[in-house]
Amino acid sequence: MILPNLNYSNLKNSYLFFRIAQKNKEYLEKNPDKHLYRMGIGDVSLPLCDAVIKALHEAVEDQSKKETFHGYMDECGAMFLREAIGKHYRNRGINIDNCEVFISSGASDELGDILDLFDKSNSALVIEPAYPAYVDANTMVGRNIIHYASSSENGFLPVPTKDLKADIIYICSPNNPTGAVFDREKLQKWIDYANENGSVILFDAAYEAFIEQDDLPRSIFELDGARTCAIEICSLSKTAGFTGTRCGYTIIPRELVRHGMSLNQMWIRNRTTKTNGVSYIIQRGAAAIFTEEGQRQIKENIKIYKQNAKCLTDTLDKLGIWYCGGKNAPYIWLKCPKNMGSWEFFDYLLNEIQVVGTPGEGFGKCGEGYFRFSTFGSAEDTKIASERLYGLLKE
Ligand code: PLP
Repeated sequence: MILPNLNYSNLKNSYLFFRIAQKNKEYLEKNPDKHLYRMGIGDVSLPLCDAVIKALHEAVEDQSKKETFHGYMDECGAMFLREAIGKHYRNRGINIDNCEVFISSGASDELGDILDLFDKSNSALVIEPAYPAYVDANTMVGRNIIHYASSSENGFLPVPTKDLKADIIYICSPNNPTGAVFDREKLQKWIDYANENGSVILFDAAYEAFIEQDDLPRSIFELDGARTCAIEICSLSKTAGFTGTRCGYTIIPRELVRHGMSLNQMWIRNRTTKTNGVSYIIQRGAAAIFTEEGQRQIKENIKIYKQNAKCLTDTLDKLGIWYCGGKNAPYIWLKCPKNMGSWEFFDYLLNEIQVVGTPGEGFGKCGEGYFRFSTFGSAEDTKIASERLYGLLKE
């Protein structure tokens, strides 16, 4: 009989979002007249911007005519999009070659698929609290996972300790769930560690577009030494509302070599074997994001999410509640008031003011006692949720 991948039996059930959905459902069954203010969602609520929609329509038209029809696309991505992204980096002074840009169907796909490049014997370090996919993708392979806890003492931005032994290192900045962003000094410590130890950093930059402070790095390749130790995984999901449209990109520099093998060349080999690329229509839509007009329009949408963030953080400031994130990230990570546990606070908000957030404990043990608010909801709901929060928690 066939032997399935037994590592799957080591996966924890997707307990967090299941339990939240369950609790919401039970509450609404008991209170059918109530509306829930959903501040927990990780999905966007604004539609694609006009520049993208126009490009998508034009690409559909292209597919209707013999002269402009496209069949299979380049497995690593259409050069028009790789070029647009390469230029986007170069305009910011980051020297990326177009052939170092790989187009993907999104960061989730890449975060799992990229593990093909590494032997199973490598350890994977996950800075926690963390986006749950890092742990799950490595558990599926049976890899040893180093749960690297962070805390409010280091602003949820830890640096490597001297005795650390890690091969694959996940860094998510701006972070989901904490909203914390690595500054240059701290990120440089990880780069130096990786170069000294022959490790590889998987830099998840899914939320880079939310960074508004010029002194914070939006790409790891802004820093010295990153080209010999890092892979950057980006997503257009939150940058441009592509959660349902699906497109992202990954940067693998040519200098990234381990055991004499180029990870860039290995990834070309992987992609040409395991995918036939992202659809022409979607790649045309994605390319519109990198035009001047596209950039202006996506920034307008991000501004709306930032207003939601401001509404929530102003409320937390007034209440004197500790939090991080919100300014350079779409997530706000707060300390549960009155020493409540994460789930206790969840129940309290649901039952008292019908506000739904995400309990920090779901992102790793060190998230216990914390809570995540997302700023992707509607402006009206965010405003009402903030008012209700203030009414409930003011002395
Ligand atoms: N990385 C982080 C940290 C995320 O929070 C998410 C989605 O929420 C992703 C990656 C996945 O992005 P995508 O929609 O491109 O798969």
